[in-house]
Amino acid sequence: MIEPKQIIRSNRKSIALVINNKGELIVRAPRAVSQAQIMNFVGRKQAWIKEKTDIYKKNDEKYAVITMSAGDKVFFLGKDYTLVSSDVSDIVMEGMVMYIPQNSNVKSLRDWLKKNALLLLKERTQYYAQGMDVVPHSVKISEAKTRWGSCSPDNSINYSWRLIMCPLPVIDYVVVHELSHITQKDHSKAFWSRVETVLPNYKEQRNWLKINRKLMDVI
Ligand SMILES: [Zn+2]
Repeated sequence: MIEPKQIIRSNRKSIALVINNKGELIVRAPRAVSQAQIMNFVGRKQAWIKEKTDIYKKNDEKYAVITMSAGDKVFFLGKDYTLVSSDVSDIVMEGMVMYIPQNSNVKSLRDWLKKNALLLLKERTQYYAQGMDVVPHSVKISEAKTRWGSCSPDNSINYSWRLIMCPLPVIDYVVVHELSHITQKDHSKAFWSRVETVLPNYKEQRNWLKINRKLMDVI
């Protein structure tokens, strides 16, 4: 039986099950409901809970920490490339192989990913900013491991460089999300409808980020 990691009580009217970003079960319950009633509810919903948490497990297994050993997988724009040490002077991608110079280490791979992340994120931000008629103060990349992007009160946008490992539609979602904060600082209905007018399928990308969170920890 999959047990709740946390039970949060509030003035709500019914019990709700939530799978958090780590794939853990969180129960939201009214104050008056007993522990036994909650566990009974959780017991009856096991099939649904298992189905949801399995998605997280499956995705977690897909991502292993990069150690620069033969056969390591490096994700780039959502595709996984196999690392091969080779007689090249800079990283080269061919087919599904990523050839790396013989003296490479994790830091050099990270620097290369950061360089590509900054170039792409600046380009995508400029593209969407024009269409949305907004102007960010600046665009930078960050080391953030807990969030993919942020927009400060003065409209400086920061992206986690690790976004370069995600598929392009997912990157675009984060770009549009942060650009939408220029006119809307909260996550209100107005904010989400702004995102939706630019990217009607944004929920799919937002969910992808949720279930592929482990990608943040591979490098
Ligand atoms: Zn936001």
